Amino acid sequence: MIPFLKSIARGYASRYSDLSEICFLFPNKRSCTFFLKYLKEEFGRHVIVAPEVKTITDFVGDLSGKIVASRLDMIFMLFESYQALQGKSSGFSDDEQAKDFESFIGWGETVLSDFNEIDLYLADADAVFKNVKDYREISSNFLTEEQRKVMAEYFGRPDKGDSGKFWSNFEQEDDENSEIKRKFIHLWRRLSPLYDSMKEKLSARGLLTTGGMYKSAVERLKNDGRGALPYKKVVAVGFNALSTSEMVMFSEMRDFDGYEGYDAFCDFFWDCTGPVLSAGLNSASRFVKTNMEHFPMPKWAMPSLAQSSCESLPRLRVVASPSNSAQVKIAGTLLSELSHRLTSKEISEAKVAVILPDEGLLLPMLYSLPKGMGNVNLTMGYPLRLTSVVPFVRQLRLLYQNRRGKGRQASFYHRDLRLFLSHPFSLSMFGTGPVGFLIGYIDKHHKATVTLEEIREYSPEAAAVLDFSELDINSENTIPTLDRILVKTKDSLPSNETGMMKTKLEIDHIEIYRDALRRLGELLQEYNASPTPSTIFRLADRLLASTTVGFEGEPLAGLQVMGTLETRSIDFDHLFILSMNERIMPMRARTRSFIPDSLRHAYGMPPSNYAESIFAYYFYRMISRAKEVTMTYDARTGGGSGSGDVSRYVLQLRHLFAKGVLEEQNWKFRLSGKEEYDPVVRKTEEIKARLTSYMEDGENAKNFSVSALNTYRECQVKFFYQNVMGINTDPAPSEYIDAIGVGNILHAIMEHLYLPKDKRKRFLKEPVMMQKETIAGLLADTDSLRKLTTRLVNSLHFHASEDELDTPLTGAAEIVGDQIINQVKRVLKRDLRIAPFKIYGCEIKERLKLRLSSGRTVNFKFAIDRLDEIDVDGEKCLRIVDYKTGRIKLEAEDIGEVLDGDYKSEQVFQLFTYAWLLGKSSHGVTDKVRMEIYDVPKIFLNEENLPMIGGEPVKSFDEYSGEFAEGIDNMLESIFESDSFLPAKDEGMCSKCSLAMLCRR
Ligand code: SF4
Repeated sequence: MIPFLKSIARGYASRYSDLSEICFLFPNKRSCTFFLKYLKEEFGRHVIVAPEVKTITDFVGDLSGKIVASRLDMIFMLFESYQALQGKSSGFSDDEQAKDFESFIGWGETVLSDFNEIDLYLADADAVFKNVKDYREISSNFLTEEQRKVMAEYFGRPDKGDSGKFWSNFEQEDDENSEIKRKFIHLWRRLSPLYDSMKEKLSARGLLTTGGMYKSAVERLKNDGRGALPYKKVVAVGFNALSTSEMVMFSEMRDFDGYEGYDAFCDFFWDCTGPVLSAGLNSASRFVKTNMEHFPMPKWAMPSLAQSSCESLPRLRVVASPSNSAQVKIAGTLLSELSHRLTSKEISEAKVAVILPDEGLLLPMLYSLPKGMGNVNLTMGYPLRLTSVVPFVRQLRLLYQNRRGKGRQASFYHRDLRLFLSHPFSLSMFGTGPVGFLIGYIDKHHKATVTLEEIREYSPEAAAVLDFSELDINSENTIPTLDRILVKTKDSLPSNETGMMKTKLEIDHIEIYRDALRRLGELLQEYNASPTPSTIFRLADRLLASTTVGFEGEPLAGLQVMGTLETRSIDFDHLFILSMNERIMPMRARTRSFIPDSLRHAYGMPPSNYAESIFAYYFYRMISRAKEVTMTYDARTGGGSGSGDVSRYVLQLRHLFAKGVLEEQNWKFRLSGKEEYDPVVRKTEEIKARLTSYMEDGENAKNFSVSALNTYRECQVKFFYQNVMGINTDPAPSEYIDAIGVGNILHAIMEHLYLPKDKRKRFLKEPVMMQKETIAGLLADTDSLRKLTTRLVNSLHFHASEDELDTPLTGAAEIVGDQIINQVKRVLKRDLRIAPFKIYGCEIKERLKLRLSSGRTVNFKFAIDRLDEIDVDGEKCLRIVDYKTGRIKLEAEDIGEVLDGDYKSEQVFQLFTYAWLLGKSSHGVTDKVRMEIYDVPKIFLNEENLPMIGGEPVKSFDEYSGEFAEGIDNMLESIFESDSFLPAKDEGMCSKCSLAMLCRR
């Protein structure tokens, strides 16, 4: 079996020695390229003058002799016509009109698409738009869901998605609905004059819509006959559903007399092979079968066409993917396997293709391609909105719009700034170092807003980009300024010579955006528009984001990466089709139209369910001649759009056409075993070398801490990533004081209240006596407490300088400050009840060298919130106090559970470790230590929060010290001795783990 296009090339090569006066028409550029390749192969060493090979669009363009207006031009023209019909001045000279224009864009594009279709399907615009004179003629099921959405958008009403209810809105007689009714009738009645006005405007400039171009080509063919074409023969290949204008054009050409020596004037070839299409088993061949009746294929070509016919389906494999993005990994792995089975010739001859019905997977797919696939050729339309440049400009817009102050006095909201700075373009332009320092500065000082001057200190380049002074002087500077920023961005990207596909694409995207932006600037000038910079930014966003970038690769070598439409007429041996989910394959019908289905039917325009048959054809044709087809789909339920439901084509294969032979794999459950990922981290030599830093002194020395050991006991893998590799899992700092910040401030206040400066953060050989009167005095002096709180919030949270420490707290900080004061008072009241007591230290910070049973010495550091001596039942008792503002986890069945990573016993482990470390220190503290949590929010309950083991309170560490010391020694030794770091025993922990992505448990 040979490819369809090759069979046609073979037929013409054997029937005609001179093809120079023949024109071959194809639905897309890619099929033209493949056809020429096959033709060259068929003629071998014979030198011939190549025939004309073109797409139908180019053919029609040449025939009409007109130029198609750009989308941007048309939307401006349409708005001008609409304004004129409304009796408003033409153009939009003030910002209000520009804003009207902005809201017009969405539904204006729908109107343009309707006008285009009316021409393409040779419908009578006057008749279509006059058909409905009154809203009462519109029955409740007159419109599709999509059409209701468009209407709802236009009238500013939410669509309730309730079929048939939309129009009931119009039947209520309140004032608001009367207004909506009036608006609808108003719009509908203007569509016909709007169509005429657009035509006039386009014609005055020698322009047309695409539909208009087809209509004009039809007229030319009808008027001038075959003389309109500079060819002796036309050959139409591989079309499917035809628009009315294509149908009329083909009919005209079919009926022209043939030139001598060229058989008929026009030959037609329809691709309808394979068990599904040829038997007409579903709607896929609906159009092509009709076409075959109206435009039969030439009989002389049947023998060569027979060489491309097939009767059985290829090997079919369907892979359920655990997520949308995992599909590219699966495809990458299977492609790698395939590359080992194929010869380099098979790979280089463009016999393998990856089809991406969802363009969003393009970049991830490119990054997941295995080595050894050779050249990669990209042919597909890619929405500009998915590229990096659109979000970059959008972020600039947000910074401009949300800034405070103007010109050089501007300051920016920290979230807008952070998002902007972390965009890859910003990192490339300003450098990761300066960006990192600037973000560090914002975090450290919890800045809500950041001034241009502050930005300049860290990155003069970033400040130059964010200096919008020129825009404040004159809004006409907006587009040139934006263009300058884009040029700067482009120049900062790694040079094109690096050959990185990503960089090349990004540079192309920036250039495309700049071109579109330039045209927007010209149009604003042409129409005397002078909107504000904000409106210009928004217009750019709305108008340019819906642009599509076309990747049209030329070389027919290596792996072909394509969109669904680009596969038309082309055959591959090995196909990987991703995103085989409903709403993607087939693509969800997006008939954004004001013209209801019943009118569409009446005037020969395609109804909203048209896309289903078209996509069915693309799919079954694409797979018909392949040897092997692998399809992946996102098998999640309730995930992103299109997820969960497998495509109806897979269902058809599963239950009808490939029943029993469809190979199915579910990578989510690892049935194939190929995606199995073991979260265990084996201790390589490099990892072991890193661990030695826990035993060293000097610069690279690392210390164990209580929280690090707690992490280890809960999940060794987490300890490895977090503590050994130093991956920071702290939540991003915010301008608000979070729970950890509240805890730190409370600790500091208690330390400041109880101890003078020279006695803080250390063990006191001479304890400080806390009398009832002292505590009562502290409680009564709210002003001093408030002052201290203010100073510590400013110091610890805002990192303010010494002379700014008394700055009054405002906003959220003031509210949190009040909460902290209340919490401190609760702790004081509790202490008042047990006073007098001795304080041996607050926030005691120490560093120890500990000798383990193996003789290994390890570094340890710890910080104890408070060590005091209280009276318990008449006995003096040393006590470790830990202040907690969060959940209390103080229970364990036995000491094994404490050491074994049980979540409920986290604080038992912490308190025991403090007590154990204190015993190891040089302060002469014995194991007779009481341990208690001050549960600050509930401290008024007058409960003692002692560790509970086996349901019994632990009154002194010495009850368990021997068992615990042995356990913790084993734990520390295992860090160095065991072969690997193991994942958490309790998988429930993983759902909350910030390292889950990395660990892939
Ligand atoms: S996801 Fe689970 S196993 Fe992996 S690091 Fe986090 S807690 Fe440990």
